Amino acid sequence: MTKSIAANSVFDKPWNFYDFDRESLENLFTTIQEPSFRARQLMKWIYHRRVTDIECMTNLSMALRSRLRSSVSFDLPSIKWHQASSDGTQKWLLELLDGNTIETVFIPEDKRGTLCVSSQAGCALNCAFCATGLQGFSRNLSASEIIGQVLLSQAALDSDRAVMHKITNVVMMGMGEPLLNYDAVVRAMRLMTDDLSLGLSRRRVTLSTAGLVPAINRLSSDCRVSLAVSLHATDDDLRNQLVPINKKYPIAMLIEACRRYSSRTVGGQVTFEYIMLDGINDSRKHALQLCSLIGGLSSKVNLIPFNEVQGIRYRSSSQKNIDAFRNTLLNANIMTITRRTRGSDIDAACGQLAGTTKRRSERRITVDVVDNIK
Ligand code: SAH
Repeated sequence: MTKSIAANSVFDKPWNFYDFDRESLENLFTTIQEPSFRARQLMKWIYHRRVTDIECMTNLSMALRSRLRSSVSFDLPSIKWHQASSDGTQKWLLELLDGNTIETVFIPEDKRGTLCVSSQAGCALNCAFCATGLQGFSRNLSASEIIGQVLLSQAALDSDRAVMHKITNVVMMGMGEPLLNYDAVVRAMRLMTDDLSLGLSRRRVTLSTAGLVPAINRLSSDCRVSLAVSLHATDDDLRNQLVPINKKYPIAMLIEACRRYSSRTVGGQVTFEYIMLDGINDSRKHALQLCSLIGGLSSKVNLIPFNEVQGIRYRSSSQKNIDAFRNTLLNANIMTITRRTRGSDIDAACGQLAGTTKRRSERRITVDVVDNIK
């Protein structure tokens, strides 16, 4: 078989435009012996001019347009329902083609609008405090299903004439563990930060992880977005219980990976997320341990009051304990903020996103399962 026939067969299979970032789209065009700038022309039509009718793309040759017409699709998830919180937070339930549903949340603030995006249907990590973990893992989302959350939410926000809302920041903090869906998440984040598509600054796109050390290392060369790490505990015994993936990548290894990531990225500040759990991880001793763990690392700490989840026994720390914990960190010159809970009246707060998964996997401690997820 000659190279061009093999290449044709790749292009002539149905493919979804939104699954490709600039580089992979250029490669796709090169395989059919089209110049790579055609890929950029196509991206401009779709992301900048919002035109998906191939016939309107008059700077593409008739032959190319005909090939595109017979192979490319622009499928995105569909919005099943939408809820608005009294504090302005909005949540969309999106249905995927296979019937899984995922959730996306928009959080408006004074000067920015943050979209919290899901990376998987369900989650395999089984963190002890999280609603998503309760439903098990169904599957990874494709790049089109990830970038689609941003496109659909922005379109929905645009159609609301009463308030002008723009997505200025994206956080990969919805359902799932983004680093267990590495390729699709990297493609989607490259689209978020590419001038030819959404053009957000890399500082305004944040990936949050429970701590998959090898993937954190890879990310620093593939897509240097802002990194957030869900730490939640300062010793391995407790973190093994709260975030079981810690058994595979313990705290010392994780902090080392954060130091590396921070040194390889411009402005390289790592955010540590720390859920405040009453009587579990919120004492002065824990705060001091946290100071010595992350001392010397360019970082900031987000203290997250625990959002209660039905079926999970933890309670949030009192405001008094959260303030005391914060003051201990501030005294050690660690930038610390207490995250305001947003959208809890519509179950849109951190850790409350659930959706519904089809073909969920058995729920079990997943340190071993993690290696098998593609
Ligand atoms: N898997 C990724 C991203 C999803 S969770 C990660 O672990 O970072 C996004 C953030 O919400 C994480 O910091 C997570 O620990 C936190 N979270 C989960 N359940 C929560 C709850 N019930 N209350 C408050 N924060 C929660």
